[in-house]
Amino acid sequence: MQVTINNSILELVEGDITKQDTGAIVNAANSGLRGGGGVDGAIHRAGGPQIMEECRKIGGCPTGSAVITTGGNLKARYVIHTVGPVYHGGDRGEAELLASAYRSSLKLASEKGISTIAFPSLSTGAYGYPLDEAAKIALKTVCDYLKEHPDIALARFVLFSADAYRAYEAVLRSILPQLST
Ligand code: ADP
Repeated sequence: MQVTINNSILELVEGDITKQDTGAIVNAANSGLRGGGGVDGAIHRAGGPQIMEECRKIGGCPTGSAVITTGGNLKARYVIHTVGPVYHGGDRGEAELLASAYRSSLKLASEKGISTIAFPSLSTGAYGYPLDEAAKIALKTVCDYLKEHPDIALARFVLFSADAYRAYEAVLRSILPQLST
């Protein structure tokens, strides 16, 4: 599914983020940037050791922030590492931290002149964020950013399962009327 927001494209695809040919792909990292399972492990495996070398030099990243490294052997030139919140029930600022992780990633892309970016569904794996709630925050935050930043030509969500794709698609359809205003 694809929608246009001003002159930018917001796209949902089902697939593997390590295969994307966008200027940057976003990693669901941990605050120590030490690598892990899930999408983080997949990105380091596919991209090679150079990415971890740069992560070690950077040292860490607070929850809700983002840092950038090379894309190593990936098609994407850069990896933006952001840290979403661990879900503890929703009353520990998780929603704002999740929105901040998306916003920080987009800001970093803008600063670096990267115009195409691919996101996984942050925090919805090991970090336990309920998929539907996370999808609402993810899509609203990215849509709001695209409205004001035409420098980002394409923001793509790469959903790893049919369930995740359907959840994002349902949310995107529900907010379509707000996008045209
Ligand atoms: P977090 O710790 O932020 O929850 P995870 O990596 O555990 O991060 O999961 C985040 C989301 O990324 C999950 O929905 C998971 O299914 C998905 N995912 C895992 N591997 C990939 C991949 N190769 N491409 C895209 N999404 C992936």
